[in-house]
Amino acid sequence: MQLKNKKVIVTGASQGIGKAIAQAFVKQGSDVAIFATNPDRLKQALKELEDVKIDQNQKIIAKKVDVSIFDQVETAILELLKEFGHIDILVNNAGITKDNLLLKMSEEDFDRVIAINLKSVYNTCKVLTRPMIKNKKGKIINISSIVGLIGNPGQANYAASKAGIIGFTKSLAKELGSRNICVNAIAPGFIQTPMTKELPENIKEQMLKNIPLKRFGLPQDIANLVLFLSSYMADYITGQTITIDGGMVT
Ligand code: NAP
Repeated sequence: MQLKNKKVIVTGASQGIGKAIAQAFVKQGSDVAIFATNPDRLKQALKELEDVKIDQNQKIIAKKVDVSIFDQVETAILELLKEFGHIDILVNNAGITKDNLLLKMSEEDFDRVIAINLKSVYNTCKVLTRPMIKNKKGKIINISSIVGLIGNPGQANYAASKAGIIGFTKSLAKELGSRNICVNAIAPGFIQTPMTKELPENIKEQMLKNIPLKRFGLPQDIANLVLFLSSYMADYITGQTITIDGGMVT
């Protein structure tokens, strides 16, 4: 993969898909910074990442950052630029759900989901675009969802945020292509993480019937695709949204 010594930021990496992505980079020998808000989970994730280092000189940094707040993101990234020198790869993974039918959805729940899932992508990209241009290369990978492609009842806020990520990704890819920066999105289907753990069993069974590969996805499945898109092997791929869902959406 040639990801050794690459400098990577993964947002929302204290658990679930983000943690698996961070672990995958660490196992490749990359220097990795993770952002999340819960200090205990961050501490635990940092310990787990330290455990899979392949080189004692590898740098792993955990930062308490609310990605929806521009000032926090800017401060954290400027500190990292001092520590790492530059950033090669940005993975915008942080996300939440606050599901409800629109009739019952509060304005607060709509705004929060848009702020954490979509505005966060503006925040990190806004701060990192200039340093990446200066570095003459970069990879940005945004975690969307199949819900952003097909919609889902009870998830108008989440679907809007994830569809927004796809439009943002296509636009930024067009802006940054001439600067050798690739910007892509990933649209996962149902992945087994704390986010999906609470879904009722009957809904999970129903979903499984619609998955041709007959299993739910694992965080590692998404991490594998992130590694590929971050590597030289994907140097001619930009502006794309790659679905990874066991064949659910075709
Ligand atoms: P998860 O287990 O709930 O993890 C979400 C991560 O985001 C946590 O590390 C959380 O840490 C962090 N986070 C939440 N709010 C944050 C904030 N304001 N600032 C910084 N970090 C924040 O979710 P997941 O299932 O791994 O999902 C990861 C991404 O994949 C999300 O964008 C999700 O929408 C997307 N996705 C998931 C699935 C699925 O089936 N699981 C499917 C499609 C797309 P703290 O709580 O400590 O902040």
